[in-house]
Amino acid sequence: MGTDDDQVSLLVLQPTPFCNIDCSYCYLADRTNHERMALETLSRVISTVVASGRVGEILRICWHSGEPLVVPPGYYEDAFAIIRRLVPDSTKIEYVFQTNGVLIDDRWCGLFRRHPVTVGISLDGPAEVHDRHRRDRAGKGTFDRVLKGIDALRRNGLKFYIIAVLTDRSLDNAKQLFEFFCSLGIEEVCFNVEEVEGIHITPSYSPDRLVERARRFFRAYYQLLRERSFPHWVREFDYAFNAVLRAPLETPRNALTTPFRSLNVDYLGNFSTFCPELLGVHTNAYGPFMLGNLANESIDDCVAREPFISLNRDIRHGVDMCAATCAYFKVCGGGAPSNKLFENGTFRSSETRHCQIFIKTLVDLAIDFIEDNIARQETARADQLTADKENCRCSKSS
Ligand code: SF4
Ligand code: SF4
Repeated sequence: MGTDDDQVSLLVLQPTPFCNIDCSYCYLADRTNHERMALETLSRVISTVVASGRVGEILRICWHSGEPLVVPPGYYEDAFAIIRRLVPDSTKIEYVFQTNGVLIDDRWCGLFRRHPVTVGISLDGPAEVHDRHRRDRAGKGTFDRVLKGIDALRRNGLKFYIIAVLTDRSLDNAKQLFEFFCSLGIEEVCFNVEEVEGIHITPSYSPDRLVERARRFFRAYYQLLRERSFPHWVREFDYAFNAVLRAPLETPRNALTTPFRSLNVDYLGNFSTFCPELLGVHTNAYGPFMLGNLANESIDDCVAREPFISLNRDIRHGVDMCAATCAYFKVCGGGAPSNKLFENGTFRSSETRHCQIFIKTLVDLAIDFIEDNIARQETARADQLTADKENCRCSKSS
């Protein structure tokens, strides 16, 4: 086994590029392709990853990059058996299904219950928000079907988290989203902002005002969480508070800029690393981000040649630029290469709108709230001292 930093902490597998719906902000180009990863390909990919010595104590496998539930549950029963047979017993395997939720029923819940599966559901908010972008190929909103999927998960006692994409429709409506997730009794929410990436090049919002709107959204959302004693967990605040509290103690770690922490494999066995969003994307500067094919070559062979050498060098260069110029580097470690590429046209760059929102704004917000909390505690302590003194005086005079 390698060191912590060259171990694969997340293996993203694309069971199929196909998706049964047609979100307007989807970045995947190949989502009408019905092919699926052959179990023979899966078996070879897993063998290659294990043989690389990059598998540690825990291996998280995320089925993603298309809709994983268009492939039947029986496929995963077979896939899980193959994976368990090939991965050493000493490695704990955890599965994540990142799904649009519309196909979840009791049959799927049976699979999720029999195996160590976490389910992430894409739900952008109430129907008028969600259905604006998340529609099927006939143009019909998917909100009602997603809620049925959530009902099935609940009926079967399964936990899940929500991924909500913030769009023009929701960026100014923190309260609406907050009330909606509270009314559904959601326990965990992760926010993304609609991004310009892959084939999605025209966002629903005006990019000039995005950072300010996102700042106001997150500030308002956190206030609401605090006022209501945190009815649900929000990934972005958790990351930001942890980053602030840990920053003085640790050297920055960033799985997105460290090769092989995340390994992203398409249905044919082609792989990329760094950000999952790079898989299947084609740019003039770098071509397709396919570093090789894990069904028939080793990781070491692929990293010793192009395009990995240029890709790694340019991403490193961008991280060095961040380290040299950015006061947030210690909590960020150099951002997300895919956002640098999609927003700035090159990995050899630093700031992006994405990092302005998800690092700078959220870290500032966390610092403000921590300072505010300390100030409140100090005030409460001073008030208590004053009250104690008053009591003292009273008892002396009696
Ligand atoms: S559910 Fe995911 S893969 Fe499918 S169209 Fe929407 S964003 Fe794309
Ligand atoms: S916050 Fe942005 S500019 Fe700063 S280190 Fe991170 S990616 Fe680089």
